[in-house]
Amino acid sequence: MSRPPALTDALLDTLRGRVCASTSDAYTSTEVFTGGELALLPASAVADVRTAYERAARARQAWAERPVDERLAVFHRFHQLLLKDRETVVDLLQGETGKARRDAFEELCEPALVTSYYLRTARKLLRPKKRAGLMPGAIGVTELRQPKGVVGIISPWNYPFALALGDLIPALIAGNGVVLKPDSQTALSPLFGADLLYRAGLPADLLQVVLGDGPTIGGAVVDTCDYIGFTGSTRTGALIAARAGERLIGCSLELGGKNPMIVLDDANIEATARSAVRGCFANSGQLCLSLERIYVPDAIFDRFADAFVTAVGQLRQAAGYRYGVDVGSLTSQRALKTVSEHVDDARSKGATVLTGGRPRPDLGPFFYEPTVLTDVTPDMLCHASETFGPVVTLYPYATEDEAVALANDTDYGLNASVYSRDPVRARQVAARLRTGTVNVNDGYAAAFGSTDAPMGGMGRSGLGRRHGAEGLLRYTEVQSVATQRFDVLTPPKWLPHKAYARFMAASLRLMKKARLR
Ligand code: NAD
Repeated sequence: MSRPPALTDALLDTLRGRVCASTSDAYTSTEVFTGGELALLPASAVADVRTAYERAARARQAWAERPVDERLAVFHRFHQLLLKDRETVVDLLQGETGKARRDAFEELCEPALVTSYYLRTARKLLRPKKRAGLMPGAIGVTELRQPKGVVGIISPWNYPFALALGDLIPALIAGNGVVLKPDSQTALSPLFGADLLYRAGLPADLLQVVLGDGPTIGGAVVDTCDYIGFTGSTRTGALIAARAGERLIGCSLELGGKNPMIVLDDANIEATARSAVRGCFANSGQLCLSLERIYVPDAIFDRFADAFVTAVGQLRQAAGYRYGVDVGSLTSQRALKTVSEHVDDARSKGATVLTGGRPRPDLGPFFYEPTVLTDVTPDMLCHASETFGPVVTLYPYATEDEAVALANDTDYGLNASVYSRDPVRARQVAARLRTGTVNVNDGYAAAFGSTDAPMGGMGRSGLGRRHGAEGLLRYTEVQSVATQRFDVLTPPKWLPHKAYARFMAASLRLMKKARLR
């Protein structure tokens, strides 16, 4: 099982050919289930990033001039190819991340949903809009949406296909070129995505992929592009924001979280426990939206803990390129080290491990058991920092106000969940949480899958939003073209400035009263 079944030599050659790299430098990615070699891939140099930018910049001029409908036709075909070739995508994703096949398939749904959403909405979002001019009748204004130019997309290893494709597709639809820098370990699936887009008819050179070290090659992308869409850690996001700030280019930042879930006292305990399991352990907890803290009312704490531990015990964890597994592997030795450190630190300081708490080398080199902790205190690593693995802590609370305060007691603000039999009550609690998304009676998929709704983070979880109108319009510059039909702004020669000022003041009063301006 050292290679995903779909990764033939021919496919690997095609994917290598999609990398913008001019030297013979190369690196090897890891097949996560075994720790063996997955693929030898070309490494880009800094000069290649400049080449990638220039190629994309040249290609995007004709692309931006094409009518939106013509651009969208490419994405219609892409959507068909994506679903047709889904098992290949899922194979590649499993090989490079070690995730369970159901998680890989779920990941593939994001670019499919994003594509179909913007196929429905982009025409309206991008078309010129009439705006009220300064003087009704005399001045007309049209708001245009111009593409930014070449958008840099830097994406992480945990959802390498969804986050690269899901973010670059709207950038292309908006008329931009794109330079993508995926994480080096997880480049096969985004390269396959790029190949699908070219097979769907994307003009040559419009989408470039560069591979290499984050600070060096990712840094060069930030230093050359006209806008940067970044997904990754809060630490790197802050560096990128500073660098983008120096160049005065815009950026959107999708960063980390320490996501809370609140169980209200009227929640259905068994159903909530079963649902929360997915919110905590999907993608082995390596999901920016994963729930890592669960707040449970004192009165039902023990019953909930029992139901939750029972549901966790039913999870099937295994390696393999097949469906029927609930929890896969962590993606790297580094992820395994962080998760082990967080759990060992908590245990040594007095936390109780209700279930899990061990690596599973018998399953594969980076596997770790789904783990539930309680009695976690603020001095423990897993209390406030993102664990980014299959570890969740249960905390009791006395009042709803206390639960809200505890949930909000973090610098992050990405995602949250509220469980209750009363959706109105749950939504009232949701509105008090400082997070970009809140899922009522679900962990993360309800909000993430609803592509009409913007999503992103508050606080140290990010800037800007993906999905919805904002997910497309962030890749555009607004240009307002004001046309003066006859001159109303220059006072006639015969009118003294003071009289003109009186006339203008009266006009302003009148226009306000008539609600004209
Ligand atoms: P990371 O910040 O280490 O790396 C992300 C990407 O940035 C990689 O491609 C990396 O090579 C590149 N990079 C690293 N340093 C860079 C630099 N100085 N300049 C430019 N690029 C650089 O993050 P990671 O460990 O790969 O990803 C996990 C983190 O991402 C977690 O914190 C997770 O919560 C977060 N994340 C957030 C979202 C979201 O939508 N909010 C989604 C997925 C992951």
